[in-house]
Amino acid sequence: MPAKRPKNPARELLFGDLWEFDPAPETAPAHIAPRYDLFINGKSTPPKSKKWFDSISPGDGKKISEIALANEADVDAAYAAAAAAFPKWSATPGAERGKFLYRIARLLQDRSREFAVAETIDGGKPIRESRDFDLPVAAAHFFYHAGWADKLAFAAPGRTLAPLGVVGQIIPWNFPLLMLAWKIAPALACGNTVVLKPAETTSVTAMKFCSILQDAGLPPGVVNIVTGAGDTGAAVVKHPAAAKIAFTGSTPVGKWIQHTLAGTDKRLTLELGGKAANIVFEDATIDQAVEGIVNGIFFNQGHVCCAGSRLLVQESVAAEVLKKLKLRMRHLRVGDPLDKNTDIGAINSRKQLEKIRDLVGSGLQEGAEIFQPDCRLPSRGFYFPPTLFSGVSLSHRIAREEIFGPVLSILTFRTPEEAVEKANNTPYGLSAGIWTDKGSRILDMAAKLKAGVIWANTYNKFDPASPFGGFKESGFGREGGKQGLLDYAKIV
Ligand code: ADP
Repeated sequence: MPAKRPKNPARELLFGDLWEFDPAPETAPAHIAPRYDLFINGKSTPPKSKKWFDSISPGDGKKISEIALANEADVDAAYAAAAAAFPKWSATPGAERGKFLYRIARLLQDRSREFAVAETIDGGKPIRESRDFDLPVAAAHFFYHAGWADKLAFAAPGRTLAPLGVVGQIIPWNFPLLMLAWKIAPALACGNTVVLKPAETTSVTAMKFCSILQDAGLPPGVVNIVTGAGDTGAAVVKHPAAAKIAFTGSTPVGKWIQHTLAGTDKRLTLELGGKAANIVFEDATIDQAVEGIVNGIFFNQGHVCCAGSRLLVQESVAAEVLKKLKLRMRHLRVGDPLDKNTDIGAINSRKQLEKIRDLVGSGLQEGAEIFQPDCRLPSRGFYFPPTLFSGVSLSHRIAREEIFGPVLSILTFRTPEEAVEKANNTPYGLSAGIWTDKGSRILDMAAKLKAGVIWANTYNKFDPASPFGGFKESGFGREGGKQGLLDYAKIV
């Protein structure tokens, strides 16, 4: 008699090493200059510090460019240019400001392949993601906010909106160009001028973007870009000319900025870390949920503040989900970020790789059970295999701290109440996912989860019209949508 088949078996077609993927490298030129100066008052400007630092490609660990290290005097020059440009720019009619934003969006689209390759070389993300996600969504943010520029009166009906002045913006390394777009587009749409600092490991696309600003004919001083690390960021935060600071990055730095600005009249928005729960109920379509789990944690090597890094599975389907997930993970291709078949590229920096290793080590030490599929990692560059921890308890560091890498922790629950309890048991509150067949359960759970963004039967979906931001230690303020726009304006 044939053996009884389990319900919903995890099936796999096994071909051994019979067929391998051929390499499919993206070969378009990235046009990365050997050295980038600062961008102040519409011009490439050598740093007064007379210092530059190396930019490394995490895919192979090789130096790709030198980036200017801005000191306080450089940051001061950038603010001076932005302050000088503000009166004219803020008085420019919204329809005219919108035209510049449309131009920037279209120029980004025109050069999207070149920018995608540069983003991948500089940051390590798979070319498929920079090509199909970062670039189109960055352009979409400029298009969206171009549309708002002449309609600000509709954002606050019956009230009059005015720009804030010069805004200082600091962005992280996980979505370099996209975070730049999230910051610059709404600021300009509202009539502000900008001093922006990219992250020290990923400045290349921000500096390439300066040529788009020049080609778009943006008046000098409206956008200024200063590069450097924490000290440069601190100078941007502390500058007296800043009317607002918009920061995306780690929670400790966000807290420091909030302390530093306390007692001043500067506005502040913070988009910080996360430890999202991705919750799978027993009535979910399991195969679809598994795809969502994989996307939730392995997208961009898990360098995503809203990554679904804590998987909460209803106990009755936990074994099935785990089995299907392991099977799916065995098919993820880790390696050369420029290969079009790569699913998981390089970890952004050696420092981040060490942080991931440390947290994974703590998971093992604290007794969680690890699964990593067999995969050959490139011998050069910074790589980490997709990793799954089961047997995780809420007190483990891997369940509490943001890993910012391709590492998933699985916890189980029996009732929806327990799922809510566990999901909210974190200092963060940025995002969450719900997988279930029942619309009523989605609405009920969404109301109880303390998270700024909640996806239902999908994950990591972004749209410029949809506000993004968190609660608790994930920060405050929104980016995108009308709410994000209003964070760059004041009511007069
Ligand atoms: P991570 O630890 O993931 O690199 P950070 O919060 O340190 O995250 O980095 C995010 C951004 O904040 C980067 O652009 C970084 O240079 C900047 N930054 C780091 N320290 C400071 C600081 N003290 N003040 C302002 N910006 C900072």
